[in-house]
Amino acid sequence: MIQFNSVGKTYAKGRTALHDVSFLLGRGEMAFLTGHSGAGKSTLLKLIAAIERPSIGQITVNDMSLGRTRRRDIPALRRSLGMIFQNYKLVEDRTVFENIALPLIVSGEFDRNEIGRRARAALDRVGLLDKERDYPASLSGGEQQRVGIARAIVHRPQLLLADEPTGNLDPALSREVMMMFEQFNDLGTTVLIATHDYDLIERMGYRVLTLSEGRMIGQERLMHS
Ligand code: ADP
Repeated sequence: MIQFNSVGKTYAKGRTALHDVSFLLGRGEMAFLTGHSGAGKSTLLKLIAAIERPSIGQITVNDMSLGRTRRRDIPALRRSLGMIFQNYKLVEDRTVFENIALPLIVSGEFDRNEIGRRARAALDRVGLLDKERDYPASLSGGEQQRVGIARAIVHRPQLLLADEPTGNLDPALSREVMMMFEQFNDLGTTVLIATHDYDLIERMGYRVLTLSEGRMIGQERLMHS
């Protein structure tokens, strides 16, 4: 669940990226976030993940109020969400298995057997169990993004955030990635996907949050004419 109440973000150098943004994305909902380049999409996702702090307003994510979040509470917030990026952000000198296991190792919550079991379950979910010993550079773009998705879901987050996840993929692979998001959403995960891909948005028929110059100018489902 994500709630923004009159949120603004001005970066240190004085550029205001978001103005007075309010919206609610309920638990289990799936929505797109769209707008031109520079509209504030990445900033909005970074505020949700507590990578940036709001300049004004309140943000609640998965029942945690980010305004009051202390540094030591941030790991709990991060564990409750998974992030997927346009350029995958895989660690090139680690195998597929290691890339996925890394967040579990860092969290210190699980022993080796449990880490192996969970990492393989995540790989199985994205259909890449046979690639666990490969390095990212030997995979296609679509496969690398599937590794990115497996890494984002390995700790079973309540919320998935994706920043232009299909930006480097052709239409067939984009559809495949979107179907994976739909499957996670069907299992109850809240999903928010930032994208410019209006074809995809129209075809899929979910709610669309639209930013323009840092303002939220629409937040309803697109109506088909
Ligand atoms: P989008 O993801 O929609 O392209 P961004 O959130 O990246 O938009 O950017 C919104 C505005 O904030 C842009 O004008 C951008 O230049 C500015 N901005 C983004 N990140 C920073 C930063 N770290 N420091 C200063 N300005 C930034």
